[in-house]
Amino acid sequence: MQTQISKLTLQGFKSFNRKISIPLLNGFNVICGPNGAGKSNICDAICFVLGRISAKSLRADKLHELIFRGNDGRSNADYASVSLFLDNSKKMFPFDDEEVNITRKVNRGGVSIYKLNGRTTTREKILQVLGSARIFPDGHNIVLQGDITEIIEMNDVGRRSFIDEISGISEYNDKKEKAGRDLESVNQKLKEAEIIITQRFDIFKKLETERNAALKFQTLQNQLTLLKASYAWKKFQTLDEAVKKIGDDLQKKEEINGQLNQEIEKVEAVLENREQSVKNVAAELVDLSKKIQVDKEVTELRTNLMLTKDRLDFNIRESERLSSMISRLQAFESRVEESRDSIPLAVRTILRQHLKGVHGRIMDLVQVPEKYRTAMEIAAASHKNDMVVEDEHVASFCIDFLKSEKIGRATFLPLNKVRPTLFRDNEFLNWEGVDGVCSELIKYDTKFMSAVEFVFGNTLIVKNLEVAKSIGVGKARMVTLDGDLVERSGAMTGGYFIKLHPKSIESTSGKELEGYIEEKTRVSEQIGLLQEAIVEMEGKLKKYSKLENTSEIINLEKLRISSDQEIDQVRNKRKKFFERRIELQQEINKLKIEGARKEAEIENAKIDLAQYGEMKYVDEKLTVLDENIKKTFRELTSLGAINMKAIDEFDKFRNEFDEYKKKYEKILEEKKAVLGMIEKIEEKRKEVFYKTLNELSKHFNDVYRRMTRGEASLVLENPNDLESGLIIQANPEGKNVVNIDGMSGGEKTLTALAFLFAIQKYKPAPFYILDEIDAALDKENTRKVAEVIKSFSKDAQFIVITHNDQTIKYGDSVFGCTMDRGETRILGLELPKL
Ligand code: ATP
Ligand code: MG
Repeated sequence: MQTQISKLTLQGFKSFNRKISIPLLNGFNVICGPNGAGKSNICDAICFVLGRISAKSLRADKLHELIFRGNDGRSNADYASVSLFLDNSKKMFPFDDEEVNITRKVNRGGVSIYKLNGRTTTREKILQVLGSARIFPDGHNIVLQGDITEIIEMNDVGRRSFIDEISGISEYNDKKEKAGRDLESVNQKLKEAEIIITQRFDIFKKLETERNAALKFQTLQNQLTLLKASYAWKKFQTLDEAVKKIGDDLQKKEEINGQLNQEIEKVEAVLENREQSVKNVAAELVDLSKKIQVDKEVTELRTNLMLTKDRLDFNIRESERLSSMISRLQAFESRVEESRDSIPLAVRTILRQHLKGVHGRIMDLVQVPEKYRTAMEIAAASHKNDMVVEDEHVASFCIDFLKSEKIGRATFLPLNKVRPTLFRDNEFLNWEGVDGVCSELIKYDTKFMSAVEFVFGNTLIVKNLEVAKSIGVGKARMVTLDGDLVERSGAMTGGYFIKLHPKSIESTSGKELEGYIEEKTRVSEQIGLLQEAIVEMEGKLKKYSKLENTSEIINLEKLRISSDQEIDQVRNKRKKFFERRIELQQEINKLKIEGARKEAEIENAKIDLAQYGEMKYVDEKLTVLDENIKKTFRELTSLGAINMKAIDEFDKFRNEFDEYKKKYEKILEEKKAVLGMIEKIEEKRKEVFYKTLNELSKHFNDVYRRMTRGEASLVLENPNDLESGLIIQANPEGKNVVNIDGMSGGEKTLTALAFLFAIQKYKPAPFYILDEIDAALDKENTRKVAEVIKSFSKDAQFIVITHNDQTIKYGDSVFGCTMDRGETRILGLELPKL
């Protein structure tokens, strides 16, 4: 047994005016009495003293309404006071006292005070003390009138709240709620940190990019310096080697030059010797050279004499040949001349050759086609040997000449005076068989036009006499191709015409003759000159006495020639040596210049190299180094603008950023912890909830079986959801399983009672106060309930308010309540001593 209420004292509380003590027994206490007798007020008094605050649950609007209102001559009480005496023989309370007295008072001002064993104390203290004996002001061990109905009328979710409360998961709910708030605050912090981190991250990234570029720049710059230093070093090495090589080459060449100089000295000594001997030979030869000159001249003279004689013979033969040609041609010419009324050909030639302004015979000045030769000669008639001259002065001069020389007569045609006789009868020109006017059928120089037109301009050439006749004799001067002539006067001349030369009216033999005469004159002059030369040469020859070529000259000449050849060879040799020496000198000079240049370059290279400190040079070819320098430089320039500060800034910023990150991660950890806690709380909550539910269900089944022999259980609407509703189900004996909502009123009451008793079993309390729980039950069920209470009352104190006789029967002690003029009286009670 635990503690129990040993006594309850009420004064001025509701219908209890005077101080009344109700000595409660351990076991089954029954309070009965008529409606309105004040039974439920006893329940209220117990709730009041246990510390219930809400006036409503004590069935009053305000606390001061709990104070006795007097009527029917009774005055109002000043305060309401309830004292509960609890047994502490088992030392359930942390006191040595055998009994614990808890008093609560409320005055008309509504002010409530608590006393523990006579001493005023706080409500908290009272609750703490009561809690130690598992007595709670809102415990389910106090079932007020109507509570059963409330359970019956509750929905499933409301019913589930019983489990929440009993299991104590409200503790976890609070924790969960607090953790939720923590989570919210942590999320807020996280959100703020994220904003900062995001902002910082952008800057971080930008700085990182800049820093990487700066680092790349530094690396490239170092690389460039190394390459440049390596280049300077390599250049120095290369130059040094080159200078050394030039030195060696120079030394070798100087040695060769020395040898060459010795050779040249030797050669020059030889040359001097040879030249001296040649000079001697030459001196001897000079004396003989004059004699040699005379000999040469005689030989030349003889040769010339012989050649001149040959030429003379040839000219004499030529002269003879020409003489025979001339005589033959002159014989022919004289025959021709006979047929011509003119001066001899020779005279004509002389005139033409020696007088300016004499152009020649008219027939010689025109070119006649072969076909018209005969016709033209006839047409020209007496004019064919007329001489064409420039003007009348030339004509008169020629006539004087012929006269003075007495060589004959001739007709002269002065170009400025002669009048052409032009053909005017054009009507005949297109006549059948008419070839045209003579002057138009020949070719000539236009400056002779007046003379040509004068001789040939008035005569037509026709095919034959038949054509002439058809035109009409006397109509025009006409000549036939055969040489028949029809004069304008009507005279006709014709017959056989003897052609003197087959080719032309004019004799080519004349021209030939002129040529031969000219040639013979020239040849004769030549003969004269040659004969004179021969006489002169023969005279000269006689003067030269004959000279002897002595063997001395020959020998000297031979010696001179051989010496000259030798000197030439030595000179050639010397020349080659000289050339070689010049070449060598040039090479030496070139090497010296090159050496000096390289020396200067070495100095520069030294200065260049000195600007770089000692380092591990890259040993590569200069071209490779140069290419790498260019490449590195290109890479450097391609980097663009560089923020070198970014390196330090980045490091600084990174530290800051890392700090932020750490903070952020810490908050994340916090969040994780909170989430973990929430999860744990939830797990624990579930564990406790399900444990409670299962145990409660078991107890519920036990109690229900005891009362009805049926089965009952408590299940969640959704077994996995703690927030889902609680289904109270049972199968009363011989019936199917039904939800409490589907049961009859009595069955509902019975099931709800079983549920309440199950709670008591799960969480036993020291006492139970049940106000009219049996109101809706039939006799049989009331008995069953009373029996259960009876059995339970072995372990706990029961105070049962009822109207039911069945229940009263089972009570260990029974108190009767009556109402006496507004004041409740307890009957059969042990009244307290006043
Ligand atoms: P029932 O069997 O009908 O439940 P009951 O015996 O439980 O009746 P209670 O409810 O305890 O009756 O008592 C009610 C009576 O108490 C009422 O008649 C009411 O007038 C009276 N009462 C309530 N408050 C006061 C008060 N402050 N002063 C005097 N009488 C009061
Ligand atoms: Mg009542």
